[in-house]
Amino acid sequence: MKILPTKDAVKKFLLSLPNSQTTVGLVPTMGALHEGHLDLVRKAKENSDIVIVSIFVNPTQFNNPDDFAKYPKTLDKDLDLLKNIGVDAVFVPDNQEVYPESPLIKIDFGDLERVLEGSFRPGHFNGVGIVVSKLLNIVKPHKAYFGQKDLQQVAVIKRLVKDLSFDVEIIVVPTVREASGLALSSRNLRLSPVQRENALVLYNSLSFAKTELLKGESWFTIKSEVENQFQQTPEVELEYFELVDSDKMTVLESLQEGISLSICTAAYVGDVRLIDNISVNH
Ligand code: AMP
Repeated sequence: MKILPTKDAVKKFLLSLPNSQTTVGLVPTMGALHEGHLDLVRKAKENSDIVIVSIFVNPTQFNNPDDFAKYPKTLDKDLDLLKNIGVDAVFVPDNQEVYPESPLIKIDFGDLERVLEGSFRPGHFNGVGIVVSKLLNIVKPHKAYFGQKDLQQVAVIKRLVKDLSFDVEIIVVPTVREASGLALSSRNLRLSPVQRENALVLYNSLSFAKTELLKGESWFTIKSEVENQFQQTPEVELEYFELVDSDKMTVLESLQEGISLSICTAAYVGDVRLIDNISVNH
């Protein structure tokens, strides 16, 4: 497995590939890898000849400096995991390599980012858009893999690719969960055992809301029951709990036929901010 710390090293690696038919899959990550990330890698290995994983904790997508400073870093373990699973190369740039200068451009995703993560984390999707554009330009993958766990990020990136004509196919991989239902997340490393238990309210309330919605209960009633469940869980503070069109990210107030629907939530558990979502259609 090649470790590529610079854009030049990536370029040389790409030039060394056997021929122009070789398909390259990119899995962008911020490290502190878990089974969710490894599932993206497995999917990439299944349908790309060469798999490159990037590990870069992107400062421009953090609206909260404390969250950035406390973001878990486990590089040696990450590299071991990637080597064992059979990744071809890992792009591990430092900040200077990615941001020789602070970008002047700003990306505004319009209505896609006026809700959910975009509204609670101002500037977040500008940072995501810029770093993903840079990674796509540096690695030039045929396919890039993203997790459904970050549903709004998927919508934003698909739109980025369309609006800027990036020649890449975006592949979305389902969320990997613990047996308890808790969605795997690098930030889970910051939870105490008790907080981990309390964090189950996210998945439990998503499952509850989905079942009730499909039974015909009104979204208004479901939402107030869920807000109660959150209020009764110690150390957990709900930010949002919304029913959305999974592609357009518009917030809805009732079940609608013929479109893909998801329920999305974000909450603080102590000072750790977690997000999760569930598809209503399947
Ligand atoms: P991150 O390192 O958190 O930026 O995540 C890198 C990629 O892994 C993103 O595309 C995430 O959506 C994806 N990812 C994170 N957690 C999970 C999970 N539990 N299941 C599947 N994919 C995930």
